[in-house]
Amino acid sequence: MEKMIYLDNAATTKTAPEVVEAMLPYFSEAYGNPSSIYSFAGKSKAALDAARQQIADTLGAKREEIYFTAGGSESDNWALKAAFEAYKQKGNHIITTKIEHHAILHTCEYLEKMRGARITYLDVDENGLVNPADVEAAITPETILISIMAANNEIGTIEPVREIGEIASRHQVLFHTDAVQAYCQIPMNVDDMKIDMLSSSAHKINGPKGIGFLYIRKGVKIRSFIHGGAQERKRRAGTENVPGIVGYGVAAQRAFTSMKERTEKEIQVRDHLISRIRNEIPNCRLNGDPVKRLPNNVNVSFDFIEGESVLLMLDGLGVCASSGSACTSGSLDPSHVLLAIGVPHEKANGTLRMTISDETSMEDVDFVADHLKKIVERLRDMSPLYQDFLKKNKNV
Ligand SMILES: *Cc1c(COP(=O)(O)O)cnc(C)c1O
Repeated sequence: MEKMIYLDNAATTKTAPEVVEAMLPYFSEAYGNPSSIYSFAGKSKAALDAARQQIADTLGAKREEIYFTAGGSESDNWALKAAFEAYKQKGNHIITTKIEHHAILHTCEYLEKMRGARITYLDVDENGLVNPADVEAAITPETILISIMAANNEIGTIEPVREIGEIASRHQVLFHTDAVQAYCQIPMNVDDMKIDMLSSSAHKINGPKGIGFLYIRKGVKIRSFIHGGAQERKRRAGTENVPGIVGYGVAAQRAFTSMKERTEKEIQVRDHLISRIRNEIPNCRLNGDPVKRLPNNVNVSFDFIEGESVLLMLDGLGVCASSGSACTSGSLDPSHVLLAIGVPHEKANGTLRMTISDETSMEDVDFVADHLKKIVERLRDMSPLYQDFLKKNKNV
């Protein structure tokens, strides 16, 4: 195979070899059910405890506050639905934002339509930042939950989680954050940031797919999500995904200990790619905050062209990236996130998201920038919109 340049690490990441290696014995040798009492099963039970501890340590949490799930979407569903159920005596109001992942937004829609919830979807500024003052102003006596993402998966904006946690705590409202993109990319501590619940997913940090966790602070009265056996302190039934959990523990520890060095390197590569695009390709805009930004995220809109066409041409060169559509497969609706930060419809359609990893080199992004320049030129040459723009500009 030709060399592939993988720039879609916000969609998923490669499972690290040491993660795979740590998982393997739990498929074939130590396959016991952690709930069984013979000593053979004790190995699986011990592995679960160890992974739970590894993860708790990355967040300043307690081991018994980590609940394993099948991924980020399940954690988000659980946090919202079960908190709504548990606290509905107090009220029915939830505060979130317009730029959340669909695992949050579609769950909110469900709660609104089917369960009588009232949801406030906060606006964000042109860089995608939530204003903590808006969060505070939206709180009413009926507010039971604030759910605001730690960092956005499309434009990479890092939200003021600490300030929001402070406000939630002062008003005694539960605070949940979808940290699927932020976890182990930026330092996070559940006590410092006054987080009550936090969602995460292994496959975004070089762990396996289909495993995640929900951090639930001790004392939060959240309901069980899956009913059945007594696993996960009776809150999430079902025989544990032991290999997945072991893999997640190793992936979390690995990503946590390498965070500083890894993200410093990523920021250099990211900024090099951003500056080459901004300096060499006219009529484009960087989406998301230039500074409060995930180390791996580049998101640009190119005027006059379709992001999908850019993607296809990059794919022909072995470059994997993502577009600004709500859903890359099929839907051509522009992303709700780009619309929320004020990117007009037609410009949103010309959006490209490239999310690097610590394996992405300067040479890789130089290759991409060189070709991107030519691709954008070529597509603009074929674009009637661009020809109109050129004509108009000649006349003024
Ligand atoms: C990927 C992602 C999710 C969903 O996680 P899965 O493990 O794929 O279900 C949720 N929120 C954000 C911000 C994400 O990036």
